[in-house]
Amino acid sequence: MSCVALIVAAGRGARAGGSGSVPKQYASLGRCSVLALTIAQFEPLEAIHAIRVVIHPDDGQSYARAVAGCGGKLLPPVYGGATRQASVLAGLESLASAPPRRVLVHDAARPFVDADTILRVVAALDLAPGAIAALPLADTLKRSDGARATIASTLDRAGLWRAQTPQGFDFGSILDAHRRARDQCRADFTDDAAVAEWAGLEVRLVAGTERNLKITTAEDIAMAEQRLSPAMETRTGTGFDVHRFTDGDHVWLCGVRIPHSHRLEGHSDADVGLHALTDAILGAIGDGDIGQHFPPSDHRWKGAASHLFLADAARRVAARGGSIVNVDVTLLCEAPRVGPHREAMRDRIAAILAIAKDRVGVKATTTEGLGFTGRREGIAAMATASVRLPAP
Ligand code: MG
Repeated sequence: MSCVALIVAAGRGARAGGSGSVPKQYASLGRCSVLALTIAQFEPLEAIHAIRVVIHPDDGQSYARAVAGCGGKLLPPVYGGATRQASVLAGLESLASAPPRRVLVHDAARPFVDADTILRVVAALDLAPGAIAALPLADTLKRSDGARATIASTLDRAGLWRAQTPQGFDFGSILDAHRRARDQCRADFTDDAAVAEWAGLEVRLVAGTERNLKITTAEDIAMAEQRLSPAMETRTGTGFDVHRFTDGDHVWLCGVRIPHSHRLEGHSDADVGLHALTDAILGAIGDGDIGQHFPPSDHRWKGAASHLFLADAARRVAARGGSIVNVDVTLLCEAPRVGPHREAMRDRIAAILAIAKDRVGVKATTTEGLGFTGRREGIAAMATASVRLPAP
């Protein structure tokens, strides 16, 4: 084994958890834990031969749950100590009986480290016994005067870098440095580069990334969640439909059966409102129209209830990872009166689309006696739909 990733997950840091009870490395992020995401950055790299995680003795179960889906490079975990420094030493000691040539120490709470950064650190180890990911300081540094939180001085930021992880080392050199630090009771180092410097090892700085942030607070978790969720865009579609009256005693409008002096003629139940709405949703996702998916020439749809068409359009949105934001239908007719049935129509559409009722609008108007609707020859409907889809 020439290079092992040693992931330090023994901290108790619970600042990121809402309840304060879950250490940040076990907090969930998207579909997995922060730790599993971190491991997944190292796992596929050929340059990494094995991965060992240092955990807190109380976290055995959390660890087992967190790494359930992780791959074959993962060695059994080892328990850390009271400080980060002690935990890293415990991890190094666990590898000492079959020492790798190199070790990369990495914070479990940095799940966004990328392959390029890891490989830059590994490559720099050809030039020096130590190398760490770091970023030149961009912000101006102020020293406060303490309690009053006013500025005492401005520091020169030239030559200052922010240390990240991974921090890579020649294994024998860093193990020796950590053992000496322990033996001399130096327990105040906040990273492994500091231990290496103290031991006189040359440590190179290689470019880290701003993405490689350390998750510390609940705000960091929220930001990380956002980073993992795909960007969404809103799309709209419109639909229009007309059906003529013929002999009968009821009409179907927006999924509601309404007694009337005529019925609407059509291949299906002729629900003009649901047809317009189905087309609006199909239009929003650019997926043809109702006639294409349910051709009138197909006997299967003879007399069909139109909620089947609408539900199919909703399934097409869901299949693309999208959701329906809102829909709005306008019915144009002199009769029947829509008002008394409006709430039932909204309820029905909300149920078919599985969305909240306040996302459904149903409106009606006459056309003041003008045109075919004014002459009571039929009913027209128009609709709009907004959907959210993952941006390409
Ligand atoms: Mg129609």
